[in-house]
Amino acid sequence: MSLWLEIFTEIRIVNSTIFRFMKYLILLLFPCTLLAQNKYGLMPMKMAEYTESVKTNPENELVNLAEFIPGIVLEIGYATTNNFTGKKIYTIARAYARRPVAEALKKIQADLKKQGLELKIFDGYRPYSATVIFYETYHDTTYVASPYKGSRHNRGCALDLTLIDSKTGKELQMPTEWDSFKKEAWPTTLVADPVIRKNRKTLIDAMEKHGFKVNSSEWWHFDFVGWQKYAVMDIDFEELEK
Ligand SMILES: [Zn+2]
Repeated sequence: MSLWLEIFTEIRIVNSTIFRFMKYLILLLFPCTLLAQNKYGLMPMKMAEYTESVKTNPENELVNLAEFIPGIVLEIGYATTNNFTGKKIYTIARAYARRPVAEALKKIQADLKKQGLELKIFDGYRPYSATVIFYETYHDTTYVASPYKGSRHNRGCALDLTLIDSKTGKELQMPTEWDSFKKEAWPTTLVADPVIRKNRKTLIDAMEKHGFKVNSSEWWHFDFVGWQKYAVMDIDFEELEK
């Protein structure tokens, strides 16, 4: 009987030691996790982790669209003050996208050229820190991404773009300007003008044929189907080009 009592006491001591150890471990690790996260509870991928992720999966590579699709027209609104924040967000005008996104875009550009049209890019991959600025400027998440989740632009899987005429380089008429917060920017809003209606349809059809999906409140924003596989990143363009 005393042997059983001894064993029982032993188990209780061991159990309470383990419990105490776990308690201290949790107390020790909890602030570390909080420190690693930002104030919105996210841990966006930085340069070193991104470089490793490209080694294990080449599809993660952020491709420079101007180099990958020679001649593609860029008009990066966030590298100017001509955007809804009224501030210059990017220090250099660049458009990057993950490799499969860039490959799909190359096919779209080729399709459009047969119709005398081309793409003009307003924005591609966007560092997470820019999404935080947008949210803190304009809290409505109908038009700006929530920093608690990050944007699909932060994953290198979204593009803001429009159509231009190959010969003149002029933008085709669309329901609104890029970056507009009007209801006319919604792709489901009825458009009276048949030319504008056709232009919007040409853009959406061209993009959706190659794996993109138009955003429900912005005719110019397209998400690459399968964006969930890619992490939110906070790497600026200068770092990518080092
Ligand atoms: Zn967008």
